[in-house]
Amino acid sequence: MAYSVKELFYTLQGEGAHSGRAAVFCRFTGCNLWSGREEDREKAVCRFCDTDFVGTDGPGGGKFDTPQALAEAVRERWAAGVGAAGGSATSPRARPYVVCTGGEPLLQLDAPLLAALHAAGFEVAVETNGTVEPPDGLDWICVSPKSTAPLKLTRGHELKLVYPQADAPPERFSHLDFQHFFLQPMDGILQRQAMRQAAAYCMANPPWRLCLQTHKVVGFD
Ligand code: SF4
Repeated sequence: MAYSVKELFYTLQGEGAHSGRAAVFCRFTGCNLWSGREEDREKAVCRFCDTDFVGTDGPGGGKFDTPQALAEAVRERWAAGVGAAGGSATSPRARPYVVCTGGEPLLQLDAPLLAALHAAGFEVAVETNGTVEPPDGLDWICVSPKSTAPLKLTRGHELKLVYPQADAPPERFSHLDFQHFFLQPMDGILQRQAMRQAAAYCMANPPWRLCLQTHKVVGFD
């Protein structure tokens, strides 16, 4: 199949257990919980999204006709990113890492693309809303539940819940099979309040940990 990618960029993962780790972010076009158009937001299942995942016009974005073509673009972005930062992508300690995000990446990330990324030497992570079954063999699964959307993916490495969501309280997810449970304060004008609420919840419910967006602290998008 062909893959539609909004943007490909080299950055630091800012959230969750891999926070601070260099990565290529592959942002796939499209989501099953919102069209991405403002006029549809009120009727969407997920209404607080702040990500542009429409089209293929971002940096490094485009249509990729084969898994190998997209994997090669990811590899080039990694090499260019490490090189531009003054490092060497051939260092044996610089294990290439790609975070597949969106939009909803599992609408497109399939077994052939996963195989192509692995063949290119990448450790492959996904950040998903959990409503779509993944291919086998992903190296890191982060599920971020949204509103009332039913989860198909109830196990993985980390569950990262944007907090607060009136119709998605943490108690609905704390029994699921994840290694890490993170609360990420809702971005926006009430973010300070959300931070305090999330911190208070984590202190009262120790399996949950506070997750701040460290990439924004250092000035990345
Ligand atoms: S599920 Fe994620 S990408 Fe889709 S609309 Fe919600 S926040 Fe945005």
